[in-house]
Order: sequence, then structure tokens, then C-alpha cells
Amino acid sequence: MSIQKNLNNIKSSLPEHVTLVAVSKTKPVSDLMEAYEAGQRIFGENKIQEMTAKWEEMPKDIQWHMIGHVQTNKVKYMAPFVSLVHGVDSFKLLKEINKQAKKNNRIIDCLLQVHIADEETKFGLDEKELEEILKQLLDSARSDNNVFKNVRVVGLMGMATFTEDQNQIKKEFEYLKSLFEKCKRHFDSAQCDNIKLKTLSMGMSGDYELAISCGSTMVRIGSSIFGNRNYAK
Ligand SMILES: *Cc1c(COP(=O)(O)O)cnc(C)c1O
Repeated sequence: MSIQKNLNNIKSSLPEHVTLVAVSKTKPVSDLMEAYEAGQRIFGENKIQEMTAKWEEMPKDIQWHMIGHVQTNKVKYMAPFVSLVHGVDSFKLLKEINKQAKKNNRIIDCLLQVHIADEETKFGLDEKELEEILKQLLDSARSDNNVFKNVRVVGLMGMATFTEDQNQIKKEFEYLKSLFEKCKRHFDSAQCDNIKLKTLSMGMSGDYELAISCGSTMVRIGSSIFGNRNYAK
């Protein structure tokens, strides 16, 4: 199967309200260009250095999504161009993104990553930490001196447990969807420029159909488009 065929198959199976992020980590630019030629414009990477190198080399109408864990000291490298940061898992990181966005005269869209899996290894906020960050943003937006003008939280992101148990995965996706709806109710987007909750990023190659049935609006698909990666990332 070619990259173009894989991509077209997946795209034709996605409902219209679901955005496809083509996860191209570890893949060479030639593979990404094949997807680009087939019309794909949103690519997801999990290493800032790799994403920056690809951004420099590739057409400038591509939207680059950072889907991996972000170290605060590397935010500056992606701040000039990144279009969505999926893995914001601390207030400290959000502050740094805001600072670097300001330097670049930009507003950077972010998703708050929620820990929904059973595994300790996956990153993310718990419900309390999530609400705390949103509250801080809201308070700031309502104050006379909004220091968080350069970030906008546009939704939530989560990764389910790596398991064959569909029931467990479903429960985790449903939990994230319910948190998303709860946050939308509590943090009425109309009142605050830097909270506009519209994106729910969940679902990868193995579980995106289930994720969509649970309310996902953005799927991150790598191996089903580009083939298996040579080393685990
Ligand atoms: C690698 C990765 C994906 C894509 O995984 P596939 O199983 O290859 O589709 C999605 N989301 C994140 C956060 C990833 O790191």
C-alpha cells in the first residue's frame, strides 16, 4: 500500500467534523512529501528538533502539531511556527509557551493533556490540575492585566492505555469526553479569549474509530498512513 492510498482510505472514513493529524515522527521528508502531494497539510511530530528541521525544509503552508512531551527549554525553537501544541501538561509549560509566543508576536493554540491511561509512563494532568490551570487562565483574562494573551487553550488531548481491551479504552475515552464537556460548561468560552474549547484530540492508528464514536474531533494517525516505525518512539 502506498502512503497516498493509506491516506485516502483513512480520510474517506473520517466524519467531516474530525481533523486528521498525520503523525510523521521518524519518517523521512520524502514520505511526508508524498502525503503532502496527496493533499495532507497537518503533520504531527513528537520531537521539537525533528519538527523544526522538517519545517525548514518543507512547504510553508503546512500546519505543524507538536504531539509529544515538551521540555520547557525547547519551546523557543518551535514558537515561531508551531500551530498546535497537544501535550501541555503543566502550568509552567503553558507559561513558557506564552512567553515565547509573545516574543514571536503570536498566539499559540494549545491542548491540555489529561492522564487517562492506566500506565504510569504516560504524561498528563489529573482532573483537579486541569481545572486549576483553566481557572488561572480565566482569572487572568478577567483581570486588568491579562498576562496570558499569547496562548489559547482550544481543547484537551489524551492517550488511552496500550491494551487489547476495547472496553477499557472506551471507558478512558468516555471519561475524557465527559471532562471536555464539563470544562466547556464551567469555563464558558464566551467570557475568555484564551479559553476556546472546541478540540478533543484522541485516537491513534489502533483506536481512532472507537475514539471518534466517543466524541473525538481530532485523530493522530501515524503507522496506518506511513507504515510501522523502525524504532519505538
Ligand atoms: C506516535 C503517536 C501517535 C501515532 O501513533 P500510531 O499508532 O502510529 O498511529 C499518536 N499520538 C501520539 C501522542 C504519538 O506519540
